[in-house]
Amino acid sequence: MPLPIIAILGRPNVGKSTLVNRLAGSREAIVHDEPGVTRDRTYQEAFWCDRDFTVVDTGGLVFDDDTEFLPLIREQAELALAEAVLAVLVVDGQAGLTAADSEIADWLRHQNRPIVVAVNKCESPDKGAAQAAEFWGLGFGEPLPISSIHGSGTGELLDRVVELLPPADKSAEEETEIGVAIVGRPNVGKSSLLNSFLGEQRAIVSPIAGTTRDAIDTVIERNDQRYRLVDTAGIRRKRGVDYGPEFFGINRSFKAIRRADVCLLVIDVLDGVTDQDQKLAGRIEEDGRACVIVVNKWDAHEKDSSTIYEVERQLRDRLYFLDWAPMIFVSALTGQRVEKILDQVNTVVEQHRRRVGTSVINEVLGDAIAWRTPPTTRQGRQGRIYYGTQVTTQPPSFTLFVNDPKLFGESYRRYIERQFRESLGFSGTPIRLFWRGKKSRELERGANRATRV
Ligand code: GDP
Ligand code: GDP
Repeated sequence: MPLPIIAILGRPNVGKSTLVNRLAGSREAIVHDEPGVTRDRTYQEAFWCDRDFTVVDTGGLVFDDDTEFLPLIREQAELALAEAVLAVLVVDGQAGLTAADSEIADWLRHQNRPIVVAVNKCESPDKGAAQAAEFWGLGFGEPLPISSIHGSGTGELLDRVVELLPPADKSAEEETEIGVAIVGRPNVGKSSLLNSFLGEQRAIVSPIAGTTRDAIDTVIERNDQRYRLVDTAGIRRKRGVDYGPEFFGINRSFKAIRRADVCLLVIDVLDGVTDQDQKLAGRIEEDGRACVIVVNKWDAHEKDSSTIYEVERQLRDRLYFLDWAPMIFVSALTGQRVEKILDQVNTVVEQHRRRVGTSVINEVLGDAIAWRTPPTTRQGRQGRIYYGTQVTTQPPSFTLFVNDPKLFGESYRRYIERQFRESLGFSGTPIRLFWRGKKSRELERGANRATRV
């Protein structure tokens, strides 16, 4: 089960990696002495006061120079922060407050996360407090003097960090709970489907106020798995209640999609795929949500043994941008195969949250390149892919480091994406590939780190 993540940020050489290793208690001290060198985020597990969490180390943040890697490092920091519940801003107590620290602080203020300031290299017991006091000005509350090398003050730092973590049971629940949005045009059978879910009496059924006004979520449980059906108020119609026209509008569906892990895109098999269905499908893909295509009213469709394949082909032709999503033919009316929908939900969520090791990714890349060499320009410049690594989940996203992204056209990029899917699966979830330029000399310097991730 994924743990809450704490991002360690700061300018180069303040002692971030020394601190991470200290917090994680790892034996192998990994220290980088060259400022500004790109490195991948490294995740290490730590615990304190019976709380488990993950610390992620990011490259040194610099805002005031224009090296080629600056955007990359900042992007890594943003990615780290995006998945983190809080950040520790590390500064150097011996060097004192620098302009770069203030710039990072300014940037952090807009990131909407709790921040703890750790003033590192304060090994001197007399000077430590004074060294730390200088950083009050950053505006994140009391700066804590620590020494990552000696370990002093790191206990206090962990106390503060643990205090700021979300309650353990809550984060555990949020992780195990699966948010499901049932979306589709009016009359495709969403409320029938919802009733069919609820009618199966899977233990608790409780309405919970959602995050937006009037949004009501319903939690159901099956085989010890909880599903939060997002905004069921937008689906259910009560007789005698006038909801007004925009209540069932597409914006409501867009909001539900954003709050969900998985979308059940409900299609009426009698109507086929309409423009509205395509709009919803497009949004699901754009928002990076997992998806199961639920083809409803199968009971009412005339069929012989070959029809299901023909129908699937026709529907998929118009939903080509969801070609990764499984399709299930159901009848909300008779209950046929409705039971199977949540099985599919489990499968796609697992893929949505899946993490693949860097070595596996590079094996896939190696094979892909061997089958089809990257394109060469007329001037003889050839595209080179150095390595790839997974940067986030939900949806699984990968960064490919290459000599020059411009050398890789649409068709080669699609080819690599297909190879990823063929080798790694990821059925039911969109995946993202980011192509990043990297100079080979810099790459060699960073190589040991990259493969360590
Ligand atoms: P990062 O690049 O910001 O991750 O910083 P590092 O962890 O690589 O440390 C940069 C330098 O600061 C290294 O030479 C470390 O030995 C040194 N350093 C780290 N922590 C401390 C500390 O607590 N006290 C002192 N005096 N030096 C430290
Ligand atoms: P919603 O607007 O998407 O919530 O759709 P409803 O659930 O209200 O269903 C719209 C109409 O389709 C109703 O008349 C339902 O009885 C009918 N319907 C829903 N599911 C099925 C199904 O599986 N088979 C058939 N034949 N009719 C269905």
